[in-house]
Amino acid sequence: MLNPLKPVSLQKKTMHPLIATTSRICFRFGLFVLAFAFAFAFSGLAHASLPQSSSVPGGIAIIPLGSVSASAGTPQTWFGDQPVLVTADHELWYAVVGLPLDATPGSHELRVKIGGVTKALDFVVNPKDYPEQHITLEDKSKVQLSAADLARADREIAVIKELKRHWRAAQDTDLAFILPVEGELAGRFGLHRFFNEEPRAPHAGLDVAVARGTPVKASAHGQVLAVDDYFFNGKTIFVDHGNGLITMYCHLDRIDVKAGETVSKGQPIGLSGKTGRATGPHLHWSVMLNGAMVDPELFVPAIHQRLR
Ligand SMILES: [Zn+2]
Repeated sequence: MLNPLKPVSLQKKTMHPLIATTSRICFRFGLFVLAFAFAFAFSGLAHASLPQSSSVPGGIAIIPLGSVSASAGTPQTWFGDQPVLVTADHELWYAVVGLPLDATPGSHELRVKIGGVTKALDFVVNPKDYPEQHITLEDKSKVQLSAADLARADREIAVIKELKRHWRAAQDTDLAFILPVEGELAGRFGLHRFFNEEPRAPHAGLDVAVARGTPVKASAHGQVLAVDDYFFNGKTIFVDHGNGLITMYCHLDRIDVKAGETVSKGQPIGLSGKTGRATGPHLHWSVMLNGAMVDPELFVPAIHQRLR
């Protein structure tokens, strides 16, 4: 009996015509795959410094603005009344526009000023359906707020709204983030959330499940914009990466940096925890761009590679 595990060797010196044809096809297909892999690798390199484009509510639109050599200076752009990040990649200028979760699908306008001339550029926001998430919170005081808690939460929301819109011009904004902690992506961005079956604002960040006390790293270099202890977000750090790109780290057990401090990419800035409104220890990580909360995963090349 033929042993199915034993490799069968071809005894014939001349190849069977069918095998020969098959190997030729395989060889050609191999070349094709190789060429495709090269093209793919180069296209990947060409956009190495740009985040993943996703023109949907909660995503980012990447809009080419023309060649770097043709323009006198960096183009200035605005989405609504917010200035927008502009970056150069392979001799081309790009506007990287943060799209809020409540953006209406359809045509939108970016205002662009190049060489003293202001013009409008139209771009399209496509619809996206985010899934639902139902969460049961034992601590009812974090769902049905007392008047005092409600007043505190409202004050904090106003402060956070201002921080989100912060703008600091910078030449060195890094658009390729690292995940601040390694762990399961437990709560994705954009989920329609229900707390004890009551609808709440969509999930405007990424939850990474990690044990309490795990070091949390800055996703890129920047300046600490603010640190505070909020009703919902708990102990929180804001890092400003320049040009309207800001990251926020929530529910921390401990904060190890101060406002105004410069941090480097990968530098531990605090420890994860479950302060504020959290069902368990995890890191809630948000990314803000021109005042919009956008999907953090679009900025993490390591996640794209893992999910591909
Ligand atoms: Zn979260």
